[in-house]
Amino acid sequence: MSSPKDLGFPTRSIDVLGVRVDDVTMSEALAICQSCLRSDQSHRVVTPNAEFVMAARRDPEFRQTLNESTLAIPDGAGLLLAGRILGMPLREQVTGTDLANQLCGMAASEGYRVFLLGAAPGVAATAANRLVDRHHGLIIAGTYAGSPDPAADDETRRILNAAGRIDLILVAYGAQKQEFWIARNQAALKIPLAVGVGGALDFFAGRVPRAPVWLRRAGFDWLFRLAVQPWRWRRQLALPRFVATVAVEAARRRLLLQETKRP
Ligand code: UDP
Repeated sequence: MSSPKDLGFPTRSIDVLGVRVDDVTMSEALAICQSCLRSDQSHRVVTPNAEFVMAARRDPEFRQTLNESTLAIPDGAGLLLAGRILGMPLREQVTGTDLANQLCGMAASEGYRVFLLGAAPGVAATAANRLVDRHHGLIIAGTYAGSPDPAADDETRRILNAAGRIDLILVAYGAQKQEFWIARNQAALKIPLAVGVGGALDFFAGRVPRAPVWLRRAGFDWLFRLAVQPWRWRRQLALPRFVATVAVEAARRRLLLQETKRP
């Protein structure tokens, strides 16, 4: 599976510097995920933002892993800005954290079993307790910090196999590591839906505060994260670089268009 269209959804996608981003709203993303959960194949959801795109430019394997996902939600506000600059606006920002939370709500009402993998030891278990409080009836099949190192895959798979049926796995190993973990392990585990969720378990566990909604809506989530996790400054340099690269790409596309229109 490599796009929502393969599941019969007429989703429009845009190309942001070589990375596919699906123009979905939250309710459309949930409908696609539900279809994944009901299918007998393995599907992954990726959550691109500016950092993902800049990393994918350096790493073709990561780019391919992103582009071969079933669903690529517009997680970062930078992507919405990029869509506008490139003349292909996206309708809504859909963050991985919000999607993961809503998926837990869906799992609670429909009986899907959820596994939380990754984050620092103890965080996934606390996140599980908080999610069960929030979504009455949610079944957590298990939690495990583990490691994204391929050498740890056998042990992690043993733990996951012992957890019984898993319908949805939320993998919190941060960008790249979590997508590669999912690509290496999901099919063998026969888990219908895997989502790489970055820092979502830290948010659910209350370990890291999340930016208020108004700040997120204004596109300044990154500023809040910088304030609470100042060590992120180096990673966040990707954001101005991303905007500059998108602006150059937009100018290049306009120039090409003018040349093709010239008699
Ligand atoms: N993480 C982990 N093992 C690792 C690297 C990261 O469990 O080797 C976890 C980390 O504890 C955090 C999450 O992965 O819970 C990544 O969070 P971050 O906020 O950096 O996510 P991103 O910004 O990449 O979405």
